[in-house]
Amino acid sequence: MNTSVIGYPRIGKDRELKFASEKFFKGELDEAGLQAVAKQIRKEDLLKQKEAGITYISSNDFSFYDNVLDTAFLFNVIPQRYKDLGLSELETYFALARGYQGDKGNVKALAMKKWFNTNYHYLVPEIDDDTEIKLTGSKPVDEYKEARELGVDTKVAIVGPFTFLKLAKFTGAKKISDISGKLTDEYVKLVSVLTSKGADLIEFDEPYLVRDLSAEDITLFKEIYNKILSNKNGAKILLQTYFGDIRDIYAEVIKLDFDLIGIDFVEGRKSLELVKTNGFPSDKVLVAGLVNGKNIWRNDYKKTLSVLNDLGVENVVLGTSCSLLHVPYSLENETKLTDDYKKHFAFAEEKLTELNEIAALAGKDFANEESFKKNQALFEGRVNSEDKDVQAKVAAITDADYVRLPVFEVREKIQKEILNLPLFPTTTIGSFPQTSDVRKNRQDFKKGNITKEQYVEFNKKKIAECIKLQEEIGLDVIVHGEFERNDMVEYFGENLNGYVFTEKAWVQSYGTRNVKPPIIWGDVSRRAPITVEWSKFAKSCTDKPVKGMLTGPVTILNWSFPREDISIKESILQIALAIRDEVLDLEANGINIIQIDEAALREKLPLRKSDWYSEYLDFAIPAFRLVHSKVKPETQIHTHMCYSEFTDIIPAIDAMDADVITFEASRSDLQILDSLKENNFKTEVGPGVYDIHSPRVPSVEEIVAALTKMRAKIEDSKLWVNPDCGLKTRGDEETKKSLINLVEAARQIRG
Ligand code: GLN
Ligand code: ZN
Repeated sequence: MNTSVIGYPRIGKDRELKFASEKFFKGELDEAGLQAVAKQIRKEDLLKQKEAGITYISSNDFSFYDNVLDTAFLFNVIPQRYKDLGLSELETYFALARGYQGDKGNVKALAMKKWFNTNYHYLVPEIDDDTEIKLTGSKPVDEYKEARELGVDTKVAIVGPFTFLKLAKFTGAKKISDISGKLTDEYVKLVSVLTSKGADLIEFDEPYLVRDLSAEDITLFKEIYNKILSNKNGAKILLQTYFGDIRDIYAEVIKLDFDLIGIDFVEGRKSLELVKTNGFPSDKVLVAGLVNGKNIWRNDYKKTLSVLNDLGVENVVLGTSCSLLHVPYSLENETKLTDDYKKHFAFAEEKLTELNEIAALAGKDFANEESFKKNQALFEGRVNSEDKDVQAKVAAITDADYVRLPVFEVREKIQKEILNLPLFPTTTIGSFPQTSDVRKNRQDFKKGNITKEQYVEFNKKKIAECIKLQEEIGLDVIVHGEFERNDMVEYFGENLNGYVFTEKAWVQSYGTRNVKPPIIWGDVSRRAPITVEWSKFAKSCTDKPVKGMLTGPVTILNWSFPREDISIKESILQIALAIRDEVLDLEANGINIIQIDEAALREKLPLRKSDWYSEYLDFAIPAFRLVHSKVKPETQIHTHMCYSEFTDIIPAIDAMDADVITFEASRSDLQILDSLKENNFKTEVGPGVYDIHSPRVPSVEEIVAALTKMRAKIEDSKLWVNPDCGLKTRGDEETKKSLINLVEAARQIRG
């Protein structure tokens, strides 16, 4: 059986691309130097796959920043304001990606969004009425040729026109239908250029097909591909989908003249059923995505082989479920994890071996093959460590545990009396600037250069200063500043049983930013109180109310590599119980305002609307309630979400039953306010009054204006005043100035 990889990680095994790009941005490396690093990464990635014996290897899966941006660039979808800068081609590319501020002008970056249900972000192509779509770039051709010179005959992977159009933002009067014909013609040209250079297999990535599709969508898709497929110029065309099944269009797609069709059998819950009920044409090849491109666990060969057997399709290639871009490079990089752990993991490089081994076993009587037996031995008995106590606690959860009593309206009154806060209370989201001294203190402690006492002493000094600053500024609800935290998930992971950490398992999040998600290895429980000492100390520094600060179960899970042996629901409940212990300990220590951040709640909303509740919200929202349901009525529970794009799930957000929610709103035209009003949102709200993602200091007038708009939609008694997210990426000076203006604005509207 042949094998196929959709895409390979491209940041470099030691994050070479990040470091080289950052040097280039600072002017410490010239363009030729950066290109050389990129070329070396592409070479290593290609040869690694070739040596592993993969049949279909992609070229053009590399990117300096993002593949969607590459595609925009390829077809001249470059807004005039970037062209006007008069920069070099690569500099223009980076201007779209990161914005430009310098002697040639000042332009913001394109908008950035989450790539489907991953933590990777793409740049949103911007199409206006003057956009002249035209094949002007040559990246796919260049990278195809470069690979061939290295002796690797690749398939050329490109983001398909349908997905490209669906993800683009139309800023003028033109709509998709006005430009889809022209764009298709340019793709046809690309196919013809590629084939003239010898490329004989072209992969069109169309992940948008796994979403809910309308009748117009299906018509559009057929229009586009009927044209492309009748102009193949001798090439074979692979339609590649991922991140789910293509139930809305499967029956249509198999009738089109594609030569190969790639389908995800890992996240595609209905994929097998679709193939079995509709059949699969014998003149086409099915690329069956069965090796998980998103998670890091070993493939269970028995399960995979049984799906392959079950398919009943003549021509099958074994593939990854999505690009391997979403997993780290190689286990070889991990020197500290013992083999007891490592043998259960497969990062990108190890997945290549899996593809090969499974492909070799397929169609054979495999039960006695060495590779099969070795693989199955990994699954004999338990892989993940277990904790009977935690399991019993989860099993004992009853419906009542999900309900906080008394009801919100009663609590709200009690809290108003006890807390005695002014109208429009002011607060922040939790973190204060993580200046270099804060990071150095943490690193020194980790390296063993300073004692625990020294480490704690330093942080206490920072907390005391931070509180004094907040008192001077006049904020009503005080925070401790989160100086002890590197990252809101890693910090809790490090303090919970059941977590495993890697050294170099970096995954691209966007551009040069990479994340290192922790791995949930076993049943999760809390070893000891995590944040209590810090919050207690903070409280001892002031007479004002201090808000305790925690990360919620849904976010902790969403930003980790999850287990596969138990359900996501079960994992979230375990984490929820651990965080609940922390909530109750904070309360017992006199902290009567507790914020439980759910920054990532919105991002794992399933791609299909019909799955929103049954596959996610129906357990994610109760899990959040479980965390705070046992607190006293007078304890005020806050939550925070980073995106305000939850207009369509407002009832679910209200059902979290928090007392206050703060969220990002400053960049979204306050649209959400209308929906809150329409939905009779009961929870008190703090829509961020200024954008913390920029160093700009908002004026008092500006904040008053934002608050005035908010007051039109939100009752005064429910409105909080706060920035839109944590301040940790900001500097001391702008933070102080901004918060002074925020407090002044609140004072003015109170008046
Ligand atoms: N409490 C966290 C902070 O202030 C929240 C961060 C976030 O929403 N991403 O940093
Ligand atoms: Zn946030």
